[in-house]
Amino acid sequence: MVYKIVKFGDPVLETPAAAVTEFDTPELRKFVDDMFESMYAAKGVGLAATQIGVSQRVAVIDISLGENENDKIVLINPEIIKTEGRQTSEEGCLSLPGFRESVRRANRVTVRAQDIKGKVFEMTGEELLARAFLHETDHLYGKLYISHISPLKRDLIKRKIRKLAKQGE
Ligand SMILES: [Zn+2]
Repeated sequence: MVYKIVKFGDPVLETPAAAVTEFDTPELRKFVDDMFESMYAAKGVGLAATQIGVSQRVAVIDISLGENENDKIVLINPEIIKTEGRQTSEEGCLSLPGFRESVRRANRVTVRAQDIKGKVFEMTGEELLARAFLHETDHLYGKLYISHISPLKRDLIKRKIRKLAKQGE
């Protein structure tokens, strides 16, 4: 099932999500499958549950956009435990369609999370994957990438979005 992506302005995007406490259930499996399906349908490399209106600490990532089965990553209750270096590159978000901004992030990031069975694991990524770990984990804290850009640029984006919303887009 493909979920509709929640757009900026919906309070669920700016509300910290609740921890997942039940693992290895058919419901969780189905939910994660649906999240991948929704992410691929929207052509994203990452999706947080808050972006489909579900306030639970679940995120999926696939920087191969579905090309490589081994690139599918499920992060449940993730936390960033180590960051190193710096990278600056353009970043966008499915919840803020049409906008991309240059964002400075760590270049090498280690995340600790649980898998679908509840097993704790750690994973280190660089460049785009590091960026995805940070971006999706932020989402689950109710934080959007525009919180990392200048207030001036952020206000400009917010103004444009409000204008588009008024025009019914
Ligand atoms: Zn996003």
